[in-house]
Formats: sequence, C-alpha cells, structure tokens
Amino acid sequence: MRFLPIFLDTAAGVVIVVGSGEPALGKLRLLRAAGAHVRWFSGSADVAEEMLALSAPSPLEISLDDPLEAEWSDAVAVVSAAGDPLDVQIAARARRLRIPVNVVDRPELSTFIFPAIVDRGEVVVAIGTGGASPVLARRLRELIEALLPTRIGELAELIGRHRRRFAAVPRVLSPRRFWQNVLAGPIAEAILAGRSAQAESQLVAAIDASGARQSGVECETETVFLVGAGPGDPDLLTLRALHALADADVVFYDELVTAGVLDRARRGAEGVFVGKRRGERGIGQDEINRRLVAAARAGRRVVRLKGGDPLVFGRGGEELEYLREAEVPVVVIPGVTAALGCAAEAGLPLTLRNEAGKLTFITAQRAQDAASIDWSGLADPQTTVVVYMGLASAASVRDGLIAAGRDSATPAAVLARGTRPDSQAAVGRLDQLAALAAEVGEGPAILVIGEVVARCAPWRAAQSEASPAREAA
Ligand code: SAH
Repeated sequence: MRFLPIFLDTAAGVVIVVGSGEPALGKLRLLRAAGAHVRWFSGSADVAEEMLALSAPSPLEISLDDPLEAEWSDAVAVVSAAGDPLDVQIAARARRLRIPVNVVDRPELSTFIFPAIVDRGEVVVAIGTGGASPVLARRLRELIEALLPTRIGELAELIGRHRRRFAAVPRVLSPRRFWQNVLAGPIAEAILAGRSAQAESQLVAAIDASGARQSGVECETETVFLVGAGPGDPDLLTLRALHALADADVVFYDELVTAGVLDRARRGAEGVFVGKRRGERGIGQDEINRRLVAAARAGRRVVRLKGGDPLVFGRGGEELEYLREAEVPVVVIPGVTAALGCAAEAGLPLTLRNEAGKLTFITAQRAQDAASIDWSGLADPQTTVVVYMGLASAASVRDGLIAAGRDSATPAAVLARGTRPDSQAAVGRLDQLAALAAEVGEGPAILVIGEVVARCAPWRAAQSEASPAREAA
C-alpha cells in the first residue's frame, strides 16, 4: 500500500484547482459538493462564468492569474489538470511548499490520489487501487454500494449526536458492546427502515437504562457463534459469518481455517489456534469445549471457526452439545462444506438427472473406519460418494466399494485444497484411487466416486490431453 486513505477536512483551508477541461471540472464539482472552499485557476474566463452559475454550499474564487505566481499559503491541497508543461510545474511547486498535490490521472506526479467513494452522508467509504485501475475501483464501489443500507449515514449521524450523552453515564457494559448491541438490534433496524423518531427515543431509553443498572452486576454470559469458515476462499464466507467475525472478541480456529478467512475478523479480536499442527497432538476436544465456555462466561463474544460447515464432520456437533449442556447461548452459522466448494470449483455436478440420483458424504479417516462402513449401500451406480478425510485410506475405500460390487472403472477424483490458490485435482478410475491420492500429495482432500466425475472440468482437460487429435477435429 503506497497511498494511505485519510480524510481531508475541507473546511481547514482552500483547495486550489488548476485547469479548465472536463477532468478539472469533475474535481471541481466533487470538491464543491464536499463543501470545500475552492480557488480555481481556470485559465479562461468563459468556463469560469459557466461554473459560477452552478450553486454549491461553499465559496468559489475564480482567478485568471498565473497559478505559479499566486499566493498558496492558505492551501490545504492542490489539484491540477492543466496539461503539460504546467502540470509538472504545479506539482513541483506544491512539493516544494509541502502541500499535497494531485495531478489528475498522473499518479507519478501526485502526492495524493482521489479514491472512488461511496457517499452516504457521514458514512464515506474510500476505495483505491494505488492508481492502478480506476475501473476496478469503480467496480468495487458498485459492490460496496449494494452492500450498504441506504440510510447508514443517518444511523451514523444519530449515534454521533448521542455519543456524548452516553459517555456521561456511568455503566456496566463496555461502550463497544453497548454500540454493538445498538447496531445489531431494533434501534438500527428502525432507522434503516426510515423510522428515525422511534429509533431516537429507543436510543435515549437504552442509554438511560444502561446507566440505571447497578454496578457490580455479574457479567452476562455471551453467545458462542459456531461458524462455518468454508473450504478456504474467504469469498465463500456467508454474510452472517462476516458479521459474527466483525463482532468477535475472540476467535478459536483450527488448521483448516485459512489466513484469508482469519483476516476478516475484527482487528482487535484475539485469535486462538486450537487445531492440530502436523505431527503434534493439539489440545484435545475437552479442552476446546472448556475454553469456549470459559470465554463466553467471561463476557466475551466468541466465534468458533471451523472449516467448511461446522456441523459436517469435524466434531462441531459435540461442541454444540457441550455448550447447550453448559447453558451457554449458541448460534450456528453454516458454511460451504468441502464437497460443495470442491465440486463447484471443479465444475462437477454432484447429482445429475438419470446419472446420479443419490449423494452420500462419508468419512474414512483410518483404514479401520473404511472397514466398518457398509459399502453395499454405496454400490449403486447412481450414487455419488464423497469421502472426507479419506486421503490416507484411499486404498481401503477402493477395496470396500469394489468388493461391494461397484464397477472398478467408475470415474473417480481426488480434489485437494479446494478453493485455495494451490488447489489440485487428480482424476481417473475407481481402481486407481490410491494412486490418485498419492498424486495430489498434501491435504485436505476429498475423494469423489461416481459417473458424474466424468463431467468435471479436470476430467475433460485430461481427456483432451490424452487425445489431442480428437480435440483438433
Ligand atoms: N466441516 C468440514 C469438514 C471437516 S473434516 C467441512 O464441512 O468441509 C476435514 C476434512 O474435510 C478433510 O480431511 C477433507 O476431507 C475435507 N476438506 C476440508 N477442506 C477441504 C478443502 N479445501 N479441499 C478438500 N477437502 C477439504
């Protein structure tokens, strides 16, 4: 990051604008809409007339003087779109005087650049790409626009007005928790729905109530959010998972959770690794359960992040039961389970009319597990079988299925590290399953067996590699 976003107080001085083309006029309009006092070196009297006619809340001075000779001592920023050689000279003078300067579309001459902005009153989001791609910045702006409620600015304004009142009241709850509850509850809902008077009276009541509570009250047990982290790509997190991460005090995570997902947690949240590192034993399920309960009872908002979906394999169900027993409030937020993430990435239809009418997820961590599975139910050629934790026991899975009568030529795939940057797929036949597992090397990986495997992208790629002549024909 070379350009750090900071917000300029437009009331702090004068912004100098040089130039009269459309780029200069665009910046002029933006600055005036933001309330800046602009001194404009228009270079031409005609355009100046036209601009003067435009009403705006702030003063506009127009000068036909030479901007290189003019007084700049009251300037907080300089914006130039005058063309060469004037732009270069303006940039040099601004640098000499240590005034931030932007030469429109010339990041190399600029000491600041204009971000794309989402403007919701007091709520402003700045988006930059370091000058690399304004088109990408605008695209991101569209995405953020779509995410932000229309009245979010009114919410900020309401909170801003009552912050001081709140600060004056002695209370039990931490200010952050208080405002978090406001943002997550009916007050925010009311204002976002346009019922601002109701929101305001509720807020005043909540502030007074927070002060009325006796101090020394035991802290309330917080909620544990059992959150699905998805298969790896942070873009596959649900919006609800993002909200939980943004509100967390502490995040307990294990080895399946990627760094990209952890990055989405609140900056101040504590991250606690409770998984198993290769060759180490980890702290054990009982200890994890105890820590979750202890953190919630200490009044911390807990996120328990688990790879994929929290209730698909991987012992999330046990944690849920334990928390219920302990009477700790628990909320489950689903995630994209590995089978679905990997299938989507590989373009593999897990079910298909007339080809696969049944889908089974099983786990086979060790060879013994594979031995205890009733394979006869999975021999049906219309069943797609997905095996979790099956990398090491691929040979037993193969033997079990074939012994039960599944055709040894059934298409099979090993999908490893799905949706991560280093994801890998190996495809072949059921009787090659062990070799396919060896081919991908590192897990995590799932095994997929079924006719539909022949529909996936890696399969098609392997086919066309094997017979380039047919591809060309
Ligand atoms: N709750 C998880 C599963 C936990 S069990 C879920 O819903 O996905 C752990 C197993 O999940 C791994 O051994 C592997 O089989 C599978 N897995 C998890 N992430 C994966 C990924 N990114 N690619 C392939 N398999 C994955």
